Amino acid sequence: NRQITYAKVPDGTPTLDCFALVENAVPDLQEGQVLVANRFLSVDPYIRMRMERRDSYAPVMTVGSTMVGRTAGEVIDSRCLDLPVGTHVVGRLGWQDYSVATPSELERIDTAKAPMNAYLGALGSTGITAWVGLTQFGRPQAGETVLVSAAAGAVGSVVGQLAKRLGCRAVGIAGGAEKCAFVRREYRFDACVDYKAPDFAEQLAAAAGEGYDVYFDNVGGPIFDAVLPLMRLFGRIPVCGLVSQYNATEPYGVKNLREVFNKRLTLRGFVLSDHKDLWPQAVAELQAAYGDGSLVHRDTITDGLENAPQAFIDMLAGASVGKQLVRISAG
Ligand code: NDP
Repeated sequence: NRQITYAKVPDGTPTLDCFALVENAVPDLQEGQVLVANRFLSVDPYIRMRMERRDSYAPVMTVGSTMVGRTAGEVIDSRCLDLPVGTHVVGRLGWQDYSVATPSELERIDTAKAPMNAYLGALGSTGITAWVGLTQFGRPQAGETVLVSAAAGAVGSVVGQLAKRLGCRAVGIAGGAEKCAFVRREYRFDACVDYKAPDFAEQLAAAAGEGYDVYFDNVGGPIFDAVLPLMRLFGRIPVCGLVSQYNATEPYGVKNLREVFNKRLTLRGFVLSDHKDLWPQAVAELQAAYGDGSLVHRDTITDGLENAPQAFIDMLAGASVGKQLVRISAG
């Protein structure tokens, strides 16, 4: 059983020596346990926050432990009647080929309805994050304009698609003209603005129309400052993440906080795990949207568990579109 472990605390951007590939025997199953062959691994920005010296909203990982992460896979051995061999599941099973798990650690997935990889993206915790942040804290009304950063990414792409489904105008922010074109074409946003373009501020203002009613913030940093003056009165800003800051060695100081006061904006940080009561509703609505074609899942798949560290580093640098996954085995 190959495992990727956490070898070193990064100093700024993680490097390959922050990870180690080790090999261990697959443990024997106890009564009530199953053996899952992991097929896909999700590499996510929050993992960077767990590779720190101090806890954030989530505890840091211990050096030497298996990297945390969600996987989708198949039960290949079972000592549990509820989860027979062949059952498809997702769970927080770590960066490894095989995982021993109990039913409480796993969710069944229906791969007749959608491919396995979608359950780590638009139909999984990524999609739920977008749904919770948008509907509970963005609270968009039909006809309003919803702006989202990291729009070509896993969470951002779902936010825009859900906003469209609710009758809103969806505007994205992404890095590079190609990514912006992808967001408009694949995710059907009304507009997408390239934050790396020299005239970003002008383009963002032009796409705002009367102003942004909701800004779903995935990135923080200078983009947050650029958006604040373009918010409408009583606008809502769900703060989902600050990916532009995760590798930063110096904290970014917000300059336009005055706009929060002037415009009477609501800023609301949220973390998915605080809203477990809403997950069933979120999943039902995401599945309905996927079923009627208003929600699409796209991903970037890197082959080989051994390439997971590089995929993670590249994802943080913006190399992926949609959900960044690693294919652990062909299944
Ligand atoms: P993405 O698929 O969006 O990948 C990260 C993206 O961040 C990159 O593709 C890149 O896109 C963008 N990015 C990186 N650096 C910068 C920068 N300096 N400025 C602007 N954009 C940057 O990841 P996820 O969808 O998985 O996560 C998106 C956000 O959601 C993260 O902040 C994450 O922590 C958060 N999150 C929060 C949860 C919660 O419970 N609150 C749960 C899950 C995720 P580009 O090429 O456009 O720069």
